[in-house]
Amino acid sequence: RKARNRMFIEMHAEASSFFQRNLKMAAGDVALRYLHDRGTTRDVIEKFGLGYSPDDWHGLDNYLKSKGRNQEDGVEAGLLSSNDKGNVYDRFRGRLIFPIQDLSGKVIAFGGRIITDGEPKYLNSSDTPIYKKGEHLYGLNLARSTMTRSKRAILTEGYMDVITLHQFGYTDSCGVLGTALTSDQVKRVAGFCSRIDLIFDGDEAGRKAALKSSRMILQHGVACNVILMPDGEDVDSLLQEQGTEGLEQCMNAAPDGLQFCMNTLRASFAPRDIVAWAKNFLSELSDPSLRAYYLPRLASGLGLSEVDFRRDAGVSAPPRNTHQPPRQ
Ligand code: ATP
Ligand code: MN
Ligand code: MN
Ligand code: MN
Repeated sequence: RKARNRMFIEMHAEASSFFQRNLKMAAGDVALRYLHDRGTTRDVIEKFGLGYSPDDWHGLDNYLKSKGRNQEDGVEAGLLSSNDKGNVYDRFRGRLIFPIQDLSGKVIAFGGRIITDGEPKYLNSSDTPIYKKGEHLYGLNLARSTMTRSKRAILTEGYMDVITLHQFGYTDSCGVLGTALTSDQVKRVAGFCSRIDLIFDGDEAGRKAALKSSRMILQHGVACNVILMPDGEDVDSLLQEQGTEGLEQCMNAAPDGLQFCMNTLRASFAPRDIVAWAKNFLSELSDPSLRAYYLPRLASGLGLSEVDFRRDAGVSAPPRNTHQPPRQ
């Protein structure tokens, strides 16, 4: 199985160079123009290895064949698809291609954005033996060295958000990519930094994800700030329209994770429900020192004394002398 995974990785390397080459050929003009119109520079196009999958049913299929690969392997690698008649064809057609790399820079999956009209807007590799959704973060391998220095990670939603952040100098940025932030992802990025700045879209999905994600990060004992984009914007559009100044303003006004959760909950729930939320939050913490850390903070966020909060929530007093700050 090790040899098989190695073969899948090789196929991804071949596919990635095929896509990258296509972006630079006449057929890729449409994609290059698309990127140019969005304000994306050559530098980041190269840095992220962006490519183009030709609008062709057998572009990559034929290329992989020329490399001596067999079609079933291409299907299992998630690069090709097959219909119920057993016909095999390219999974990615007429899309701008974002290679997803592991921590050592090996391409293990792809995302593809439609350039003209069509559905879905983004198509990602399905799970394969070398790629499990929710384990990886887009761009983490390119961001890790800056993260280690800045001690901060910016975590955002989409491919273009990550790329534009890097373009504007925020090279400690990586992306969650559509799924809800997972515990695996938090552990992975927390290995490189002591604080996570979450940047989410100013839409309903973004606000929902911000609450869930900040809660998840806090539960890992990692500090975070929550930066919600203005209505209708995401960090890509904000940076392209307003530059770093616009983003810095949002960053300076950003609440920390616990404040954000409390503010958000207060906006739509009765105190009783927020107490229940806080109780649930505490009950999911296995580390007693983290429980002790959050208990008075949740109480004060609710405007209660610690004693009243413990009584309302029905939680016991934390052990003494464990008031340690979260991992910083
Ligand atoms: P763009 O700026 O190119 O229009 P976006 O990143 O702003 O795209 P969103 O709708 O905000 O798009 O989605 C955020 C991220 O969620 C995307 O970058 C992508 O990774 C993921 N995503 C969005 N739509 C889909 C989809 N239909 N299938 C899979 N993933 C998706
Ligand atoms: Mn969105
Ligand atoms: Mn966008
Ligand atoms: Mn978006």
